[in-house]
Amino acid sequence: MRIVLLGPPGAGKGTQAARLAERYNIPAISTGDIFRANVSGKTPLGLKAQEYMTAGALVPDEVTNAMVRDRLDQDDVASGFLLDGYPRNPDQAVELDGMLSDLKVKLDVAIEITADSDEVTQRLLGRAKIEGRSDDTEPVIRKRLEVYATQTAPLTAFFEGRGLLVQVDGLGEIDEVTERIVAAVEAL
Ligand code: ADP
Repeated sequence: MRIVLLGPPGAGKGTQAARLAERYNIPAISTGDIFRANVSGKTPLGLKAQEYMTAGALVPDEVTNAMVRDRLDQDDVASGFLLDGYPRNPDQAVELDGMLSDLKVKLDVAIEITADSDEVTQRLLGRAKIEGRSDDTEPVIRKRLEVYATQTAPLTAFFEGRGLLVQVDGLGEIDEVTERIVAAVEAL
């Protein structure tokens, strides 16, 4: 299975990504997690990404695309993968197309987890208290939601046009959402 997971910040992508990765026995690749690990490790990549992340903006495409290309060149993704948080704008989607055609593989499905802005804002503010992620403050959450709406949301039409989109309501119990996703993927 080769899966792209879309959805606004706070929709539960990370949680569902881990479950789907287990279910389909594929690695979950989260660009946000890779960036955060690099920021913590103060690597050159982390230093490039940090200011954008703190502001809730997208890290520049050349940085992100190169990082994903490297990751998709590794052996463990040969039989499948789940991308969580990439692509995040139309240019990244085109770039991903190029990577996959170089690898001679195709995406199976793009899953969009939907959730309204009020719900996700409340979830992220709640998570901020537990995890202390520096971009889970109200102004930065607002910025991330705006970036999602303007830059990432257009990708749903892009994947729909290719017959790859499934949309799943992200409200409800975690298990329930996972089952909805699996059912939708199998129905595609
Ligand atoms: P969320 O979906 O909750 O905003 P992520 O962990 O997916 O969280 O992303 C956190 C931050 O990492 C983003 O706000 C952005 O700065 C950076 N980032 C993650 N993925 C990408 C991407 N594909 N392109 C550019 N920046 C990204």
